[in-house]
Amino acid sequence: MSHAASLKTFKLSIVAPCYNEAPGLPEFVRRIKTVCTTLDCAHEIVLVNDGSRDNTLAVALELADRDPAVRVVNLLRNFGHQAAVTAGLDVAEGDVFVLIDSDLQDPPEVILEMVDAWKSGADVAYGQRRKREGETAFKLFTAKFFYRLLRSMTKSNIPADTGDFRLMDRRVVEVLRSMRERHRFIRGMVSWVGGTQVAVTYDRKPRFAGETKYPFRKMFAFAIDAITSFSVVPLRFVTWLALGIISLTILAGIGVVAVKLVNPNYFIPGYPSIIITIVFFGGVQLLALGIIGEYIGRMYESVKARPIYIIEQVYQQRSGRVEGQVPHRV
Ligand code: UDP
Ligand code: MG
Repeated sequence: MSHAASLKTFKLSIVAPCYNEAPGLPEFVRRIKTVCTTLDCAHEIVLVNDGSRDNTLAVALELADRDPAVRVVNLLRNFGHQAAVTAGLDVAEGDVFVLIDSDLQDPPEVILEMVDAWKSGADVAYGQRRKREGETAFKLFTAKFFYRLLRSMTKSNIPADTGDFRLMDRRVVEVLRSMRERHRFIRGMVSWVGGTQVAVTYDRKPRFAGETKYPFRKMFAFAIDAITSFSVVPLRFVTWLALGIISLTILAGIGVVAVKLVNPNYFIPGYPSIIITIVFFGGVQLLALGIIGEYIGRMYESVKARPIYIIEQVYQQRSGRVEGQVPHRV
């Protein structure tokens, strides 16, 4: 891969999705600015307002008013975290990109290490959590279980204990931009791209303000998206299950015939066994249909090929004033 780190000067794009993050946003931008000052590079901070219901947009516009590096991508409604990140990556114009949550759970200072890794030739430097503070035991357990399950089911080597906090070279982002699938699992898509991907370990912090926007319901949906967009193992599992059951019933049939030959009166005509058999196969068929349905549903959504997000306007300073503009490229 041709690598933008060979450039003498480079531009860093920080992309941060924001959903009801008004209270913490000024502190977030302040910490990011400190990092950019240390790096002493051209930069932009792309805040994607994902249809927040609080005054996130107003706070973001105010930050843009104070700093020409801040750009605000305002989505028409809430499209979800992964769509918001996609919008930000499409609008950003840097040579190297960093995805980071705007709630300060990902410490901005880690970006310094990521940039070092990039300068030594990495295409992707992903944040790997050493520990996670301020999370429930339930979230920690489900996350751990999920990443192990996903890795056992997919060929692409999606690293465990990572979020979307990562640095990516422009080449990687260009490939990502061409991947317009609807059910997005960005950390998996990035690892699918390949190239040199290195881990930068860090301690995940508790939120600076507000609360998580990922309740269990959303986490579960996200996990199903991840598995179905990276693996057909569930489909194959049904096939193996069916083959296993067919083999067993053939064996059982042979057994019944053999026993009948030896002792014709051995079996009392059984009502429970029939019911159990019917219910069992009903269950197997429902399961198979359900799993197939998951994939068909996703194909349906892909065939519709609707946009992943809709941008209301992109706001940034133009000749000293914050102005909104409808982007033409995306
Ligand atoms: N987020 C978003 N749209 C959503 C939900 C979340 O843009 O529908 C943003 C949110 O503002 C935060 C990031 O995505 O910057 C991660 O969300 P959150 O902190 O709620 O998830 P958690 O860290 O608890 O997994
Ligand atoms: Mg968070």
